[in-house]
Parts: sequence; structure tokens; C-alpha cells
Amino acid sequence: MRKNYDLVVVGGGPSGITLAKRLGKKMTMAIVRPEENSMIYCAMPYVIENLIEEQKCFKSDSLVTDSGAELLHDEAVKVDFDKKMLVLKSKDILTYNKLVIATGAKPLIPGIPGVHLNGVMGFKTQQDLETIMAYVNNGLEKVVIVGAGAIGIELAQALKNKGLDVSLVDMASHVLPNIVGNEFARKAEEELIRNNIDLLLNTRVEKLIGKNSVDEVHLDTGEVIYLSDYAPCIGHQNTTIKGLVVFATGVVPELGFIANTPLKTGKQGIIVNEYMETNLKDIYAVGDCAQFNSYITGEVTGGKLATNAVPMARILADNLLGKKTIYKGFINGAATKVYNYFIGGTGLSVNEALSANFEVVKGYSQLTTQFPNMPGKKDLRMKLIADKKTLKIIGGQVLSGEPVTSLIDLISFAIQKQATVSDFIEISYASQPYQSFYPAGNIFVAAAEQIMEQMQ
Ligand SMILES: Cc1cc2nc3c(=O)[nH]c(=O)nc-3n(C[C@H](O)[C@H](O)[C@H](O)COP(=O)(O)OP(=O)(O)OC[C@H]3O[C@@H](n4cnc5c(N)ncnc54)[C@H](O)[C@@H]3O)c2cc1C
Repeated sequence: MRKNYDLVVVGGGPSGITLAKRLGKKMTMAIVRPEENSMIYCAMPYVIENLIEEQKCFKSDSLVTDSGAELLHDEAVKVDFDKKMLVLKSKDILTYNKLVIATGAKPLIPGIPGVHLNGVMGFKTQQDLETIMAYVNNGLEKVVIVGAGAIGIELAQALKNKGLDVSLVDMASHVLPNIVGNEFARKAEEELIRNNIDLLLNTRVEKLIGKNSVDEVHLDTGEVIYLSDYAPCIGHQNTTIKGLVVFATGVVPELGFIANTPLKTGKQGIIVNEYMETNLKDIYAVGDCAQFNSYITGEVTGGKLATNAVPMARILADNLLGKKTIYKGFINGAATKVYNYFIGGTGLSVNEALSANFEVVKGYSQLTTQFPNMPGKKDLRMKLIADKKTLKIIGGQVLSGEPVTSLIDLISFAIQKQATVSDFIEISYASQPYQSFYPAGNIFVAAAEQIMEQMQ
């Protein structure tokens, strides 16, 4: 088949779907996506834990098809930018006026010995999810998760709740290094340890040993985790393993089909400007496969989040419709749940701010989520990070017994609007016994005042 479109989007994740919703009825458009189902990746740990049925983790194809865009279950294997031609795995050929690359990212599995063994995997796709579920349902007893970021921690809790013996290994000195500093991370670590997760920090996995499947995980501390001590378990395709090693050590942009083309890429992906244009005319990139800058420092930074992918795609949709809007950069608000605690962070951490040559001042506050005399009150803690010179807010972190994303979003908004510590002191807030601390106190005001005290 050979078919022509105004717009072809390679990739059917949040970026591709956002583009379809906004442009599908305005032009002839195709979304190319290899998977049968587009996944809600964030929900995958909760499928393993049986909180959500697997089916409910699939985004409906109608999100694309109802928008008027065509959904092609296929894979882009080659592109000829001069001829504006995309070759698919099925050998079909698409020609386009404009092409968007939205191919996302894939798990980064370090190149250490033994990663090719059975029982070693990343955690991203429906197949990864089903592989883990098949092992768990067949009696898997042991998992080693490498990487104590949000994904590693969420997976660790899910597998622990399914009764597995879980080791969580990270070379960093504290968990969630991309979300919070060590004060709040300590609380998360206490929760993990209290729930019998074997947490190994400051520890690097050096090699994996086994014949066909992984038997031993060797750590740079000299310790060895012996998976061979556990009972064998048969999973998909009759693969027998005694333990599973899952790498949740970050992701790298998926750039397979554009390798060896003149498209410019950097360490974090395809280089785009604030209109999501690449170096080639009529070629755009958005989402995890694209490289962009920090909103705060203007320097290239990581930001592989759905909450960055969707706004990038929205901006691109505007631009393709002729409205000139610009993407201003990643702030990277993110959150997770560690047993009884909700934990989130946004903007720069103290270490990131110091590396970007900021002089940093930070303020802490600790209140409760409801009036302290209410029976359901929970802990609520905030850390605000400001630039000492201008007192502009450049980061913040929250830990609470209640969800934190709306507080994190407010700090992100403050960063976007270049708000200062004084702006937070002047914040106008609401109070009610079930929903906040007493009117006499507010979590933002208290943290901001603590910064101001240090400035006097
Ligand atoms: C377990 C997990 C939990 C997460 N939790 C969160 C969270 O809580 N909050 C958050 O903001 N983010 C979270 N993320 C990250 C988030 O899922 C990604 O940032 C987001 O999916 C990126 O969207 P995207 O559209 O750029 O890429 P993707 O969602 O990765 O989609 C890329 C698409 O491109 C397709 N593709 C790749 N190559 C080709 C090709 N050659 N031809 C055709 N199609 C191709 C892929 O198959 C896929 O359909 C999580 C990710 C994982 C794995």
C-alpha cells in the first residue's frame, strides 16, 4: 500500500494521542503504532498488585480513531526525508507533508555482564507487564529491582504485596533521587524497610551470573544475591527462572528508525526548538524521544514524563495549526506513593541548583493535612528551594499522608510565574477542618517564612 497524508505521527503514546485529538479532524492524519494496545504505563505496577485489571490499563483506540486520525498498527523502519517517505515494517509506504516523531523512550539496561540471561528485563511494555504477571502467578519467589526511583519503588511495593521477597538496589545514597532530597527520601526508606523490602543503597550491580537464566546478582559491595536459592518458576514461553532482575534505571530515547539520518540528536533525544521543530524542514519531534531544556536553567535536562510529553504535543498541535506558541521547558513535577506516604518534587533539587551555580536557600514546614484536632489528620511536610540572590522559587518537595500533586503543581506554577519567597508569604489560602491546617498556619507560608528568617 502507498498512501499520502498531510501529517504522519510515528508513535501512539500520550504524545501521539494528544496530536490526534487536536489535529485529526483538521487534516488527513495517520498514527503509526506497533503495539496492539497503547498502555497507561503509570498504572502498570497497580495491575501487578491487582488493584486495576489489565484491560483498564489500555487506552482505547477510539481516542485516536474518533478524532478522525487513522491508526495504523505498524512500525516505521526507514525514512527518506528528501522524498518525504516513510517505510513501514509491513512494507507499506506512507508519504507525508509533515512528519512527527513521537517514538518515546525504552528502558536503559546497563551493559554489564549477564544482562542477556533469561529473567533479566526492563519494565515498560505490555509484554513486560505480562511477563512479570505470568511469573508471579506461577509462584515466583524472588525479585531484584535495580533502581530506586519512582518506577522501581512502585514495582517493589506491588511485588512485595504479591508475597515476593524483594531486593531494591540503587547506587545513589538515597531513594527517589530525581524527586526529593535525602530528608524526605529517608521517610520513604523507613517505609520500605518497615515493609520488609531489602533496600541496598550506595550499591551498584556489577554482574549477573547464570547458565540460561540469572542465578546470582553480584554487587560492588562484594555481596551476592543468590536467586538459585529459590524455587524454579515457569513463565511465558516455558522459560524457567529462579528469580527475576528488573532494571528500572531510567530510559533512553527510542531513535531506532532515524539512526544514520541527518536528523540532529543529543544525549536526551532529537534536538528540537521551542516550536518542536527539528533541524529538518517539516519534521518535528515531541515527548520522550525529544531533547529539551530545563525551564529554570535553560540547559538540556532529563524530563521523560507523560506530563512533559502531553504539553509538548499540545504546543506542536498549535503550531501546526498556525498559532505560534512556544514550549518553555521542563519543570519536571513528579510524584509517587511509598506505602503510607505520598511524595513529590518539582523544579531543581538542591544538588541540581548548586550544579547550575545557584546559591541556594531552603525552608521547611511541617503541619497536618486537616486541623490537628481532627481524627483523620495526617503528616504534611514541605521543602521550598529558592535562589538566594533573587529569592525566586526554583524547586520544592512535599511529603504527606495525603496526595501531594496539587501542592506540587502550585510550586511548579510559582516557578513558571517566577514567583518569589515573598509571594508565597502573601499567598491567599483557604482553610476547613477536614481539608487543611488551622487558618493560623499554611504550609507554603511557613516554609517561605523560614527562608526569610535565614535571610535576615
Ligand atoms: C512504569 C512506568 C510508569 C510511569 N509513570 C509515570 C507517571 O506516574 N507520571 C508521568 O508523567 N510519567 C510516567 N511515566 C513516563 C511516561 O509513561 C512517558 O513519559 C510517556 O509515555 C511518554 O510519552 P510518549 O508519547 O513520548 O512516548 P511513549 O508513551 O513511550 O510512546 C511511544 C510510542 O511510539 C511507538 N514507537 C516507537 N518506535 C516506533 C516505530 N519505529 N514505529 C512506530 N511506532 C514506534 C511505541 O511503540 C509507542 O507506541 C511512566 C513510565 C513507565 C514505563
